Order: sequence, then C-alpha cells, then structure tokens
Amino acid sequence: MEVVLKDLTKIFPSRNKKSSEEVVAVNKVNITIPDGKLIGLLGPSGCGKSTTLYMISGLQKPSGGQIFFGEDDVTELSPEHRGVGLVFQNYALYPHLTVKQNILFPLQNLKGEDKLSKEEMLARAYEVAKLVQIDDLMNRKPSELSGGQQQRVAIARALVKMPRVLLLDEPLSNLDARLRLQTREEIRRIQKATKITTVFVTHDQEEALSISDYIVVMKLGVVQQIGKPQAVYDSPENLFVAKFLGTPPINVLNGRVQNETLYIGFDAVLKTPGVKDQDVYVGVRPEGFVLAEDGALTCKLNAVEVMGRDVSVVCTNEASVNPVIRAIINAENTIDEEKETVRFNLKANKTFIFNKETEERIFF
Ligand code: ADP
Ligand code: MG
Repeated sequence: MEVVLKDLTKIFPSRNKKSSEEVVAVNKVNITIPDGKLIGLLGPSGCGKSTTLYMISGLQKPSGGQIFFGEDDVTELSPEHRGVGLVFQNYALYPHLTVKQNILFPLQNLKGEDKLSKEEMLARAYEVAKLVQIDDLMNRKPSELSGGQQQRVAIARALVKMPRVLLLDEPLSNLDARLRLQTREEIRRIQKATKITTVFVTHDQEEALSISDYIVVMKLGVVQQIGKPQAVYDSPENLFVAKFLGTPPINVLNGRVQNETLYIGFDAVLKTPGVKDQDVYVGVRPEGFVLAEDGALTCKLNAVEVMGRDVSVVCTNEASVNPVIRAIINAENTIDEEKETVRFNLKANKTFIFNKETEERIFF
C-alpha cells in the first residue's frame, strides 16, 4: 500500500489561554512512501514526528492537507477503518492479560464481515507470535517478560489485524543498547517478511540509517531532505542535515571562498570551481581527512585515540565552530603524538560548503 502525504499540516492552538501563539507542529509535509518499504522519520525531539504519525493513523485530525492510502483519500476516515497497526515506545500492553490475550484483543472487537471464529483468531495470534518469536511465551503476563519481549508482543498485537500500514513511534527507546540493536534487526526482518508499508519514527540517526529504505529528516515541522540513507549521508542538502547524520558528527569550520578556492584561515584547502567569493560554513566528515606531511590544512594536535581498526585524531583549529576537530584515520597510519601540529588534505567528496545565512549547501 503506497502512502502519500500531501501538504499535511497540524497546528495546535496555544496551551496558554492568554497567549495567542499557536504551534505549527507539522508544516506542509509532502512524502510518498512506496508500497512495501520502510521509511525512517528522523529528527530532534519536538520536530513533529509523532504528530505526523498520529495523523497517518487517524488519531489526530490534520489542520490541512491530505493523506492517501493507495487511491483512497483517508484524511477523514476514522482510525478503526484505516487498517493501521500502531506501536508505541512504552509497549502499552494490558498488564492483567496474558500475552495470548493481549494479541487476541484487537481481533475480538472486529464486527460484521471482518468477524473471525475463535479458531481463526487463535490461528492468527499464533501465526504472528511465531513471526516475532514469542510463541513460547503465550501464557505469560507482561510483567514476566523482558522489555524486548514486551515490545515484540506489542508488535504482534499491531500485526494481528494484518494492517495495511505499520506505524512505529520510537519503538526501541525503552530498551537497553544490546536489545535495541537486536530488536531493530528483528523489526527489519519482520517488515521484509510481511512487506507491510512501514513508518518508523526515531530521533536516533544511527537507528534510522541502519533500518530504513528511505529516510525523511525533519526540523521544526518541515521536511529537510528525503532519500536513501547513504545518499542523504553522502550529500546533505543543508547544514542541519549534515550535522544531524553521522557519528562522530561532521566537523564544522568557518571558511571563505575566494577565486574559486576554499580557504580555512590562510590555508587553501580545496578548489571550488564556479563558486562565487563569499564566507561559508565548511563541513568535513571525520573520514574526510587524509594525513599528509605537506597537507593543506594545519591543525594543533591534542590527542590520538585508539579505536582498534581506526584512530581518532583530536585536534584544534581557530576556524573550527566546535571546540575540537575529530578526524578518523586508518590505524595503519603512524602519528607522532609528541608533534605540536598535524596536517591534512581534505577529500572533496567528504567536504561540503554551506551558505552562511541560509545554511543551504553550495554545490561545486
Ligand atoms: P516529536 O514526536 O518529533 O518529538 P511531536 O510531534 O510530539 O514531536 O510535537 C511537535 C510539536 O507540537 C512540539 O512543539 C510539541 O510541543 C507540539 N505538540 C504536540 N502535541 C501537542 C498538543 N496536543 N497540543 C499542543 N502542542 C502539541
Ligand atoms: Mg514523538
């Protein structure tokens, strides 16, 4: 089922009666989610991810715009008629019911044509329980399960009605690091097996990059960029997206273009053919530095941190916006830690420049 959001907007009235300031939580969002794909909706807390998801589910009514499931305009349709499965961060299981009863619950309210016999319901419940690998826990209560197992029950419960669209709102946030990794792989496996069009909301860029067919980066209710994870990482369209993706984060420096050459301080670091003279922000990915005796950019060396396969060179430069610059270098390079300075060349495909005012990318 393809899902299309067209100019989708949500405005909340002011919470404070005295002030007239309303919150534009979601601002003219246009996204096409291809059939059977998983898209990661990514952005910092408060950027409108959950609100977007709740509008897709029907739990919240848009202030403007439309939502299509395939050919159907579902904008005015109630949540029960949309055929969506929803999973929240805090599993929201019924504590007094067993796992089996929790999974059966959505089926017991089906009416009319959709009504199932007891046998059919049980068969479905066991089918999804098997899919999420909790079929041996069916008689336990939620309190007798780990966080990861509880979240699997919540996913099974969302899947049991065979939804057209699966919506996951930060489903891994309550899990510890190891379970988070395991459950995220599990969600990917289930999504691929069921081919249900899925929207996965997270503020964790690494999570979104690893799990998604496409990512949508949002800021203050506005979509910043949509694309395949690697494509967005490799070619961010503005400084916000560049800074939001990647660990360690991108290094940002003040720079200047003069005579089609990029300068950081007095160091001429790259050729920028076709770019007009101007001040810019320079973003350099940690893997964009190449150690070189006669390198173009000179930095003051702070420390060399061993990370196994790679080493992290921590250094400073007066033009740096952040307190330190972090360069990731292959561990086969030898760096004399006693040295005061270290010199790099910059990889052109890992170095981005941005307009100082708009923070939009300047391509060269
Ligand atoms: P996210 O899920 O990305 O953290 P939300 O969609 O929950 O963000 O919220 C987006 C913005 O809308 C925030 O500024 C939030 O405070 C505001 N907001 C969310 N729900 C309501 C509400 N029911 N009433 C008023 N403002 C809200
Ligand atoms: Mg949220």
